[in-house]
Amino acid sequence: MSPSSQTRADVVVVGGGVVGASIAHHLAAGSADVLLCEQGIAPGQGATSRSGGLLRLHHTAHCDTRLAARSLPVFQNWQDTVGGECGYRRTGFVMLVAEKYADSLRRNSAAVEESGGHSELIDPADLTELYPGLGLDGVGAVAYEPAGGYADPVAAAGTLLAAARRRGARVADGMCVRRLLTTGDRISGVETNLGQVSAPVVVLASGAWSGRDLAGAVGVTVEVAPRRIGLALAAVPGAGAGDSGAQLPTCIDDTTGTYFRPSGNDGLYFGVPSNPAVRLGTDVEPLTPDEVAAAKDAVATRVKAVGGAQLLGSKAGFDGYTPDRRPLIGPAGPDGLYLATGFSGGGFKTAPAVGELVAAEVLGGAGVAGRAEEPLLTPYRPGRFVAGRPVVGDFTYERM
Ligand SMILES: Cc1cc2nc3c(=O)[nH]c(=O)nc-3n(C[C@H](O)[C@H](O)[C@H](O)COP(=O)(O)OP(=O)(O)OC[C@H]3O[C@@H](n4cnc5c(N)ncnc54)[C@H](O)[C@@H]3O)c2cc1C
Repeated sequence: MSPSSQTRADVVVVGGGVVGASIAHHLAAGSADVLLCEQGIAPGQGATSRSGGLLRLHHTAHCDTRLAARSLPVFQNWQDTVGGECGYRRTGFVMLVAEKYADSLRRNSAAVEESGGHSELIDPADLTELYPGLGLDGVGAVAYEPAGGYADPVAAAGTLLAAARRRGARVADGMCVRRLLTTGDRISGVETNLGQVSAPVVVLASGAWSGRDLAGAVGVTVEVAPRRIGLALAAVPGAGAGDSGAQLPTCIDDTTGTYFRPSGNDGLYFGVPSNPAVRLGTDVEPLTPDEVAAAKDAVATRVKAVGGAQLLGSKAGFDGYTPDRRPLIGPAGPDGLYLATGFSGGGFKTAPAVGELVAAEVLGGAGVAGRAEEPLLTPYRPGRFVAGRPVVGDFTYERM
């Protein structure tokens, strides 16, 4: 695609991760002329290409629950809603907490039901019947979502981009947006390494890179800091095998601060804690043996087999973190600039709903007085920190 054929678009989306891809898909479905710019090769070099892809509805802030609940049916019916495969695998999801958080767990589980999903409280003893490979020492209460599991983030973002392309969107790899252009107090386009593009609307979906120069140069502070987070893969025979679901669930364990999910039949991905000290680059430093060893020990308290398991690989990526660990979604600064960034380690599972709702706001003239807002997005507005209204968990645990 030559620069001259890209000199105009209705909307420029900056960033070809799953969020930008989902937004572009829905904008194109709404007949907008969309150009998506990815500095690397879409679906990118950011968080999406390294993500664990865990799918769950359970959250401590119920606004997150509602977005996840609107998204799960899309993952479940990807072929019909997007086209192609997203690799959805239903393993069941379990949230494990200490006894003292049992009441919070009950309320957060109820919020899942109110959002149209299904979550049930389950006796820890019954859980070991469902998943015999799971140890539950120190676990006081369990919430179980039968439809939880995981999907493949690269496949999901790739098929979203393909769907956008089928509807006429242009997806430009190796196109780095270097500057936002303004005319008066309006966005008028972007300057890229391949030339200028004029557009009345720019959606910044640039993940960990969003806090850098782009928005700052037009007077917008984007409260997003990069963090490197990782996953390691252990050989656990049978972890994901089974006729009705998997031998191990997709799990977040608040008591040890770990999370994991099966990978295929014989592997288990587990989370390696984030490291804010590692500086943002266009590439990511691999995880160190010490980082992986500490996480492996913690997971072994739940899945004994992980203790002596062979490591099969690891992946690390940068995601953008906000002060309240919830995304920034909405208009900001000059008319025509819209943020959809800062997904703080959890943006995969909500990307379908975020793309749909952001596109509806953008196509409806977001930021223009009198235009309808999407209520599900209201808690995430970029101005909330200055206004002293960060998102807070409704019923929190030790670590969430
Ligand atoms: C190890 C790991 C595990 C995770 N596990 C889960 C999980 O289990 N469940 C879950 O829901 N979430 C998880 N996440 C988080 C989730 O993957 C992210 O929140 C989500 O992928 C963010 O998508 P994004 O599109 O906002 O960002 P990204 O995928 O980072 O995409 C942003 C893109 O913007 C591009 N870009 C930046 N600046 C520019 C520019 N100036 N010009 C052009 N392009 C630019 C970048 O190259 C990048 O590709 C995990 C993340 C990681 C790293």
